[in-house]
Amino acid sequence: MKIVVLKFGGTSVGSIDRIKKVADLIITYIKKKYKVIVVTSAMSGVTNDLVNKSKKISNNFSNAEYDVLVSSGEQVSCALIAGRLIHKGFNSRSWMGWQIPIITDDKHKYSKIDKVNKQKIIKYLKSGGIPIVTGFQGINKENRITTIGRGGSDASAIVLAKFFKAERCIIYTDVEGVYTTDPKKLRNAKKIEVISYEEMLEMASLGAKVMQPVSIQDARLGRVNIEVKSSFKNKSGTLITKRKNITHRKTITGISTTQNDAKVTLVGVKDRPGIAASIFKPLSESSINVDMVVQNISADGKETDLTFTIKNEDLNKTRKITNSNRKIKFKKLLFDKNVSKVSIIGVGMITTPGVTYRMFQALAKHKINIQVISTSEIKISVLIHKKNLNKAIKALHKEFKLEA
Ligand code: ADP
Ligand code: ASP
Ligand code: MG
Repeated sequence: MKIVVLKFGGTSVGSIDRIKKVADLIITYIKKKYKVIVVTSAMSGVTNDLVNKSKKISNNFSNAEYDVLVSSGEQVSCALIAGRLIHKGFNSRSWMGWQIPIITDDKHKYSKIDKVNKQKIIKYLKSGGIPIVTGFQGINKENRITTIGRGGSDASAIVLAKFFKAERCIIYTDVEGVYTTDPKKLRNAKKIEVISYEEMLEMASLGAKVMQPVSIQDARLGRVNIEVKSSFKNKSGTLITKRKNITHRKTITGISTTQNDAKVTLVGVKDRPGIAASIFKPLSESSINVDMVVQNISADGKETDLTFTIKNEDLNKTRKITNSNRKIKFKKLLFDKNVSKVSIIGVGMITTPGVTYRMFQALAKHKINIQVISTSEIKISVLIHKKNLNKAIKALHKEFKLEA
């Protein structure tokens, strides 16, 4: 069986008109003799709306009920797509996660897909049916509905492609592919023809919303090649594949940005071995993710300043936890929400010296002050003032010749 998995994101199914177009697109694959498995997101805006409703009910809404609530948007778009295909004379039906079933671990809100039961879908495909599967949701061993993290329909599609050994997994979205940076932020952004899993994982983790990070990790482990394409225009997209398949590359592949960071500084911390661990232990116990960290060596061996970044939404919790931490002594606790993180990503930097210098120099030329730096083998991230974000993207895009 020649199987293809087609995933449609929120904007692609955002209106009745779009759903009709999606059905027509699905039919083109049927005509090419593919067995098609469709994975769909909720119509755009629906999941956010459901999340907001849960917040109005309680500021501590049950995670299990959250999953039941927010997964419901996918049920609607599934039925609409299947209904349209039936209207057009095709054999189609909706499949909720629990009907297949797509089995996840027991955790709610950020569950992980463990297994997909193949029998029913294979039988259905063989009978000539077009299954329309809800993205984002699964079921756990307790028979409770689970969801796999925001943007999770990407991962649903990739896991299905892996389990059904699909020939292709196509992520249809509202842009033509993965770009050198968010095309909605920079007009000069260029579509990338082919990108490695490692680079895509970094780009996604560092803010490129076009693919959910977990899904890329699943694709890398399951060796699933992904095509990212527009559901609006019939144009070639981006192939996400293993590094070995890629020959031409620039030093830097792309630039990602995040805007939901906050910077925390502890001024005048009593410096002693284990101080950093004492600061971060209670944060980690409260599931607060600390991202960038910078600590100066104290000149007199007594006091130092320590700065780190967290997500904006964790700011109040971090303030409370740190202020009540009896294991540390400091003079002042400062918070700054006016920060953005800009990262350059590329496997080319492993073999090209001087990338860090070029990045810092390009920012300096535009009088952009760097507040915190963090690096890995294939990325350099800097924290800057929010107001300089667009200037920084433009400067770095130019410096690394990404528009060429
Ligand atoms: P979908 O609803 O199809 O899942 P998303 O909104 O999750 O779509 O992701 C697509 C969006 O990702 C685009 O509209 C674009 O603004 C944003 N984006 C951010 N960074 C990039 C990038 N490097 N390349 C392409 N799109 C990006
Ligand atoms: N509808 C879910 C969300 O908005 C899943 C997805 O779209 O991938 O997060
Ligand atoms: Mg998405």
